[in-house]
Amino acid sequence: MAIRPILHFPDPKLRTASIPVVEVDDNIRTLIDDMLETMYEAPGIGLAAPQVAAFQRVIVVDTSEDRSTPLVLVNPELLECRGMEEMDEGCLSVPGIFEPVERAEWIRVRALDRNGQPFEMEASGLEAVCIQHEIDHLDGKLFVDYLSDMKRNRIRKKMEKQRRQTL
Ligand code: ZN
Repeated sequence: MAIRPILHFPDPKLRTASIPVVEVDDNIRTLIDDMLETMYEAPGIGLAAPQVAAFQRVIVVDTSEDRSTPLVLVNPELLECRGMEEMDEGCLSVPGIFEPVERAEWIRVRALDRNGQPFEMEASGLEAVCIQHEIDHLDGKLFVDYLSDMKRNRIRKKMEKQRRQTL
């Protein structure tokens, strides 16, 4: 396993639409293991493959208290969404920024697991929000897209300033 570098907003690569995984093979399993290690090390509660410059439809999530319940979703599809809730969201690609976003509060998802087996699951609350956030990444969408233009521009300027300071 290896920790992979995380792309930061406003890197245009984060806008790439990821392609479906054709076969869950050892390369994909290595990607999954690296993503889990990268997410836990960050630390974060979710990570999508395009955030580590792998443009395939793979996400990992762990919203458990003790960080012991990794959830792997390959080619995730939202089947059903219910309710609405607003939660403060952050993103490993937009470090240090937390803003309220409205999302469905209950979802049903279909995906493949790390062995390529299809499964369906339901999620609510934080886990549901996290899965929706990560699926957005696969379509090149970021949580800052839900904010006003003014807010997003302010965040972009802040990120660009941080980057200049770390170079
Ligand atoms: Zn994110």
